[in-house]
Amino acid sequence: MVYTVAIDGPSGSGKSTIASKLAARLGLVHIDTGAMYRAVTVYALENNIDPKNEEAVSASLKDIDITQTPDGRTFLNGKDVSKDIRTTLASSNVSYVSIYKDVRAFLVELQRKMAKSISVVMDGRDIGTVVLPEANVKIYQVASVEKRAERRYKENQEKGIPCTYEDCLENLKKRDYIDSHREVSPLRPADDAIILDTSDLSIDEVVDECEKIIRNKVNI
Ligand code: C5P
Repeated sequence: MVYTVAIDGPSGSGKSTIASKLAARLGLVHIDTGAMYRAVTVYALENNIDPKNEEAVSASLKDIDITQTPDGRTFLNGKDVSKDIRTTLASSNVSYVSIYKDVRAFLVELQRKMAKSISVVMDGRDIGTVVLPEANVKIYQVASVEKRAERRYKENQEKGIPCTYEDCLENLKKRDYIDSHREVSPLRPADDAIILDTSDLSIDEVVDECEKIIRNKVNI
């Protein structure tokens, strides 16, 4: 059967890692929507467009083509930007760009198209509430901000992306605030989402837990 899984939650709660592992385990296509907001941010930064200038960022959308490959890479106008979207500069500007109505409309449409007629696990902030309100399974992951900063710091170190633990903590706190206070599609769990606290769970334990939730909801 074709079914959709929505995973939402704050920055650094491990959504993308979990979604990617779940996809491999259950044969789903993983769509990382945060990577798309990051790609729009990278386009602005690379083209001298101020991320805080809504009009300029919105006008640039017509020149932007974003694709994701099954192995989890993100392409911006044909160029692999998987690493560029994770820099501290991109991370500290992405929440400005993701506030804009036109940016959200552009990416939500793209995300819905990508999820059409195939089984997907899509992770983000507004998947269960806005992008796929009819998703068969909705999971909302939470974890303490310190734990999330620790994970993000480790992940960046492994990927060779320079940053300190304090950088990660500050960035996450700031993004939490902006993401949950914005007017359009603020970060919040859907009414029918299952809340999963991952603070004290390993990655594999979270994947096991998500698999249980999915198997409980859909007949696979
Ligand atoms: O998931 P990730 O941390 O890569 O997302 C980067 C940023 O993109 C978030 O802080 C948020 O501002 C934005 N975002 C969003 N809606 C989504 C996914 C990400 O606003 N569905």
